[in-house]
Amino acid sequence: MARIIVHKFGDVKERFVEKVLEILNDCYNRLGAYAVEIVEVYIFEKASSMNAFLNDEKRKLGVETSGFEESFLAVHDAWHGTPRIMVAYDKMLRVTKLVRIGVLRHEVAHTALHGSLEYYLFFPPMFLLELERNRVMSKQVIRDLVYLVSIAVKDYEVTRFLCGKGCVKDQVAYNEYCLKLSDEELEEWKLAEKNKTATLLFLISVLKTACCAAPLLKDERYEEEILKAITGNVNFLPAELSAQLLKMLEATSRFGRDTHENAGRFMKEIIDQLIVKGKYLETKENNSARKESRMSK
Ligand SMILES: [Zn+2]
Repeated sequence: MARIIVHKFGDVKERFVEKVLEILNDCYNRLGAYAVEIVEVYIFEKASSMNAFLNDEKRKLGVETSGFEESFLAVHDAWHGTPRIMVAYDKMLRVTKLVRIGVLRHEVAHTALHGSLEYYLFFPPMFLLELERNRVMSKQVIRDLVYLVSIAVKDYEVTRFLCGKGCVKDQVAYNEYCLKLSDEELEEWKLAEKNKTATLLFLISVLKTACCAAPLLKDERYEEEILKAITGNVNFLPAELSAQLLKMLEATSRFGRDTHENAGRFMKEIIDQLIVKGKYLETKENNSARKESRMSK
């Protein structure tokens, strides 16, 4: 049984904390041998405080990825060596019960599969380091790229793992929530498409969301529904691009059990399809446009 230590920040109803603990405990019970020994849970009254806390931690630890977490309901990390789950209370109140269960189970699965520091250390392949050396791509873009690829792979693994434990319905609800296209995302695309680097990061961010849902395509009860949600999330893109992204998603079917190997495979797919073939890079970056690029859920 996992020992759960709760830290509350701001005005969070006790009933909510109890419910969160109930869902976490139930999920750890389902995971059996995978259950972790200790997990810290931080519940923030406001998502803005959670983001400020995360940014402060990232700064102290020298984690230099852009703020991709800003629209998350909850996040997981193991920057200090022990798994930690952070929850945004105000955002959680705005989603359905099933989505709440889905996201909490998603984070629990991260603590079980990716609960140590090695799952937070991913290094760029030689190809990207070459691009940096030749000043074709900046260090920050490469960091963001590696980060997005790592979360795409970890999210895929989490959903695959939870499906295997019978947590399917809630994962369908959570993924459909993540795949719902918002006006903000459409606005972000308008900005991103003006700049090749921003486009590249935006597309990988779209892929990341689809990756999380991909294992559900193997469940014949939900296959159609999930495919519709994934397609709906990319069909605002030029037809050729959305078809290419859907094709790239097939790379996930070659994923094995090793997270770093999976990340390497997926990175290769991105380099081949988007960077080499699609030429989504450019010498001079427009940083302001890039920062506006789509924030992932
Ligand atoms: Zn995740």
